[in-house]
Amino acid sequence: MNAPFRAIRPPGEAASPVPPGATAFFHPEPPRRRARILPVFLPFLGCPGRCVYCAQPAATGTAPASLAEHLHALEATLDQARRSGAQPLELGFYGGTFTALPEPWPQRFLAAAARHRASGLVTRVRCSTRPDAVDPGLLARLGGPGPQGLDMIELGVQTFHGPALEASGRGYGPGEAHAACRAVRRAGLALGVQLLPGLPGHDPAHLEADVRAALEHEPEAVRLYPCVVLRGTPLAGALARGDYAPWPLEATVDALADALLALWARGVPAIRTGLAPEAGLGAHILAGPWHPALGQLARSLALFRHIHARAQALDRPPRTLVAPRRWRSDITGHQGALRPRYAALGLTLAFEDRPDFLLF
Ligand code: SF4
Repeated sequence: MNAPFRAIRPPGEAASPVPPGATAFFHPEPPRRRARILPVFLPFLGCPGRCVYCAQPAATGTAPASLAEHLHALEATLDQARRSGAQPLELGFYGGTFTALPEPWPQRFLAAAARHRASGLVTRVRCSTRPDAVDPGLLARLGGPGPQGLDMIELGVQTFHGPALEASGRGYGPGEAHAACRAVRRAGLALGVQLLPGLPGHDPAHLEADVRAALEHEPEAVRLYPCVVLRGTPLAGALARGDYAPWPLEATVDALADALLALWARGVPAIRTGLAPEAGLGAHILAGPWHPALGQLARSLALFRHIHARAQALDRPPRTLVAPRRWRSDITGHQGALRPRYAALGLTLAFEDRPDFLLF
C-alpha cells in the first residue's frame, strides 16, 4: 500500500523552529478522541450462533450472565461513578450483538445510560454488532445522536472478502457488509469498522482490500483484531485437523503496518490493534499472531516505513532523524528492535521535546 504523506499539524501543537536544511513533518497518525470508554461486555448475548473463532468470555474476561444481571451491574457502576465524581465517560456495549438483543433490552440499557447523560457523566454511547443486525428501521429506533440513543455503531464486519466470510460461517456476504456500513452512516451515526485479518481463506492482500473497502464508508475509527485460535472454538478443531493455519506473527505485523499507514493517510485512527491482554487470555490462546505489544510492533513499523519514504523523497540521503521525545518507543520499536533498521538507512537518532520530526 502506498500511502501519501500527511502534513497536518495535530490540533493544539505549536510550530517549532526548523533548522536550515531540515525537513519537518508530524507523526502520520491522526489524533484520536480522548474519551474514556467504560466497556460493558455482554458475552454472546444477542448472537445468532457462535462464530468459528469467537470465545467471548476468554477474550473479554467477563463471565456469562443474564441481561438483567448485566443491567443491574451497569446501573450500580454508573451510580457509584456519579457519587464519586468520576470523570465523564463514554459507554461501549461489546462482546455480543447489541442490536439483536431481545426487545426491549437495547432500550433498557440505553435508558440506563440516558439517566446519566443529564449529569454529564455519560457523554456518548456506542455498541458493537453484526452487519446483519442493523436494518434501517432498527437504527431509527435505537439511533440518532441524542439523549436517548446510540451515537456510534462498531460493525464487526471482519472482512469484505466473500470466500473468507463463507469459510468462517459468518452468515452474510460482502454486499450485506457494505449495506450495513451505509445504513449506519445514513442513520446519522458514527461508524466503526472491526476487521479480523487471518480468517480461514483470508491473506494479507485481502486485508489491504478490506482497509480500502472500510475507508469507502468514512469510518470514525477502525479496530484490527488479527485472528488467533482460542481454546474450545471450532477454529481450534480446524487447527487440530490441519484445516486451518493462522498467520505468522511477522507477516501479521507487516500487514498491519501497511494497514495502519493506509488508515492514517485518510485520517482514520486504529483504536485497537490486537486483542486486549485480558488476565488469563494467554491460557486460552492455542495458536496465532498474538503478542502483548502487537499494537506497538505494528505502529513502530508503520512509522519506520513512513520515515523511510520521507527520507527517500529528499534530494540527498539524510543523516539525522530528530524525533519528538514522546515518540521514542515508537521510533526504537519494541525492545529497540528498529534501531538497526534506522542505522541501515544511515540515520543517527536524536530525541528532543518538540512536536514534529526533522530529517537533515
Ligand atoms: S464474533 Fe460477534 S457475533 Fe460472533 S459469536 Fe462472537 S460476539 Fe457473537
